[in-house]
Amino acid sequence: MKQIAFIGLGHMGLPMARNLLKAGFQLSVFDLVQSAVDQLAGEGARAAASATEASENAEVIVSMLPASRHVEGLYLGDDGLLSRIPAGRLVLECSTIAPESAKKVHQAARERGIDLLDAPVSGGTAGAAAGTLTFMVGGDAAALEKAQPVFAAMGKNIFHAGPDGAGQIAKVCNNQLLAVQMIGTAESMAMGVANGLDPKVLAEIMRQSSGGNWVLERYNPWPGVMENAPASKGYGGGFMAELMAKDLGLAQETAQVSASSTPMGALALQLYRLLLKQGKGKQDFSVVQQLFRDER
Ligand code: NAD
Repeated sequence: MKQIAFIGLGHMGLPMARNLLKAGFQLSVFDLVQSAVDQLAGEGARAAASATEASENAEVIVSMLPASRHVEGLYLGDDGLLSRIPAGRLVLECSTIAPESAKKVHQAARERGIDLLDAPVSGGTAGAAAGTLTFMVGGDAAALEKAQPVFAAMGKNIFHAGPDGAGQIAKVCNNQLLAVQMIGTAESMAMGVANGLDPKVLAEIMRQSSGGNWVLERYNPWPGVMENAPASKGYGGGFMAELMAKDLGLAQETAQVSASSTPMGALALQLYRLLLKQGKGKQDFSVVQQLFRDER
């Protein structure tokens, strides 16, 4: 397995594609943004003018797009990629999308004899750059076996979550929890600082105490606490608040299907919608800190 097409070279896709190049795969790449394509072409990938062109001769197709509508737009319909590639190819769809949407794409692929896995990721842009992503995979175990070398070039932990769409269900559960941790950390940071604590001291105490969590370990939302966190870079880069709002919406849809009670996820969604209304949707999701900061 040598030739891979990579479609969607954004915050996550670009570093993931770069790791495939480093692992020795031949890569053809496409994104709607030409500068992203040019950047990887400069590093040894073949630039393609469309997803179809990128997929010619590719044994494996990897996609990393924003949301369900982009994924359905790429793969489904008479003009969709699944109608244009031969049976026997392997598609690794790594975007975070609705489980129902993933099932639709699985079904279309199966009808055409194409192996497809829903394989959303966790680990953020830092994990994408370091090749340490976690993949949560839904679909056939045999297809996952074939995909192992490709996943291994981009990630560290590869979980088979279950059948079609199961990767997406695991992902929305995880991101709902992440949002709740982020918001809880942000409000505690703001309360402590408003009461006179040094943010770095407070962050370290909570990190090493029973409130410790992934956000406090790797992604503190208070500017200046962690040099490399998006909060210390003007909330640039990272994982956009609008994508977190999308994932929280998917979590609510998923809860609806099972009649699950998810009050924390519902509140988190409302807080992220508020941020979007304030024009902060393109900033990193840790910008939720600004809802709680005392500006007086
Ligand atoms: P992004 O917006 O930075 O990148 C998406 C890319 O897809 C863009 O470059 C866009 O031009 C391209 N694109 C859209 N439609 C296309 C099409 N039809 N053909 C080709 N290219 C197309 O988003 P991202 O942060 O890279 O996230 C991608 C996915 O990964 C999302 O589903 C997100 O929820 C998920 N995710 C993101 C992170 C993170 O930390 N950023 C972490 C885990 C999962």
